[in-house]
Amino acid sequence: PTVRDRIARGRFVSVELLPPRTPAGEEALAAALRELAPVHPAFVAVTYGAAGSDRGRTEALVEQLAGTDVLPLPHLTCAAHRRTELVGILDRYIAAGVTSLLALHGDPPLTATEPLPPGELRYAVELARLARDRGIPCVGVAVHPEGHPAADTREQDLDHQAAKLREADFALTQFVNRAEDYLGFVDEMAARGVTTPVVPGLRVISTVQQAEKMALMSGAPVPQELLDRLRAVDGDREAGRAVGVAHTTRVARELLAGGAPGLHFYTMNRATGTLEVLAGLDRA
Ligand code: FAD
Repeated sequence: PTVRDRIARGRFVSVELLPPRTPAGEEALAAALRELAPVHPAFVAVTYGAAGSDRGRTEALVEQLAGTDVLPLPHLTCAAHRRTELVGILDRYIAAGVTSLLALHGDPPLTATEPLPPGELRYAVELARLARDRGIPCVGVAVHPEGHPAADTREQDLDHQAAKLREADFALTQFVNRAEDYLGFVDEMAARGVTTPVVPGLRVISTVQQAEKMALMSGAPVPQELLDRLRAVDGDREAGRAVGVAHTTRVARELLAGGAPGLHFYTMNRATGTLEVLAGLDRA
């Protein structure tokens, strides 16, 4: 199966994992996978480190998962590599039985404006085309419902995102903190004739520091109400987590009620927050 097939089944849960860097990290990841198994993740996305040292770890984890019941979705960034290297990675994935790929540009310090030799890839959409040409059956892209931090105008940004979505089988979003941002984005795409499924990404934020870092990374502001609640319990880990879980559960409920096909969780290799949100949804 591909990620597209799994999305088509509807009302699914998927998760994102980070390739571990240490033996302790490997144990934490194995524990998270075990704890998440009962929710049957529709697919498991594996991030790609823009910093050189993590690159091989993504491939290793994806190849390990490809031999199990889990459907892996490797992330790959075009800005990190020359075309020939990208082709090598794609071909190795195909040989390992990988059916789906998330085509990305790549986090800073990789930029989309540096001069490139002819034939090299600048944008995620070009990697999506290359992946398809090499024979990956299902290719997704990233979208930024609240706007990409580097975009000049909202209209231009939405047009770029619509063009990218037209060439993709599905999209995953940047962290969604307010359901209306996702729902408004899907409407904007539909108004441009684009109906590619867009899966909202959720991350439980449980401290003020995480909220600030997240806003900086994604350019997506954290709602004031959530920040105020986190500040009120600053220093109390358990209380902070309860605030984050309650907020994410509410957003998840609104997303599903608004027509989101499923929910993608940025787990940071820990199962607890995701499981608590899902338990909260079941209780509703
Ligand atoms: P692109 O779509 O290529 O866009 C890059 C920039 O170029 C944007 O400013 C866009 O507006 C502009 N642009 C795009 N197309 C055109 C065009 N045709 N003409 C002019 N301008 C254009 N980063 C990692 O390093 N590793 C990961 O594993 C990773 N996973 C991610 C997963 C998700 C779901 C998301 C949302 C992001 C992820 N990122 C990851 C971060 C991502 O690489 C950055 O957000 C990056 O800044 C943009 O990537 P993109 O794929 O959206 O780029």
